[in-house]
Amino acid sequence: MKDITMKVKEILITEEQIRQKVKELGQKISEDYKDSDDFLMVCILKGGVVFMADLLRQITIPVKIEFMAVSSYGNSTSSSGIVRILKDLDTSIEGKDVLLVEDIVDTGLTLKYITEYLKGRRPRSLRICTMLDKPSRRKVDVEIHYKGFEIPDKFVIGYGLDYAGLYRNLPYIGVLE
Ligand code: 5GP
Ligand code: MG
Ligand code: MG
Repeated sequence: MKDITMKVKEILITEEQIRQKVKELGQKISEDYKDSDDFLMVCILKGGVVFMADLLRQITIPVKIEFMAVSSYGNSTSSSGIVRILKDLDTSIEGKDVLLVEDIVDTGLTLKYITEYLKGRRPRSLRICTMLDKPSRRKVDVEIHYKGFEIPDKFVIGYGLDYAGLYRNLPYIGVLE
């Protein structure tokens, strides 16, 4: 049997730490958006999918969901700065309170591009929720409203995050060997 945990040098954030943090974020977001008439969570595929699924189930107010897919890196571990929209939103976000759900903010280039793009579609409000933040790598300023964990400058995998398309299914966040 092939064991994907072989590629994990170190576990940075455990399943239990993730569970606790996602619960806290869900409570905070539910409180902050409780008066919204049209709350929409937009997940950025593919990396955000595991976080989105967990976070969504900690939301206690009415919410709709949408997905976008973007490509920024290819199979490399460093940013190209080039963002392509591979899958756009299915519905209009005009007048809605939009919360973008991301796996990780690294250089910030991807998020910068997506937020500018979405602002053009006139949401009522637009905020960012990211599971991970690597502030030391930032190239452009982006405002993050909800954050799981700040991490050092290491390439991480698991909990939605991949290396060459693999390891997204690890239930924790680990450092690639
Ligand atoms: P940014 O545009 O902020 O540099 O990077 C955004 C995207 O790069 C993330 O959504 C993620 O897909 C990828 N990325 C950045 N850092 C890492 C990392 O440590 N591990 C993995 N697997 N992907 C990363
Ligand atoms: Mg992402
Ligand atoms: Mg990736």
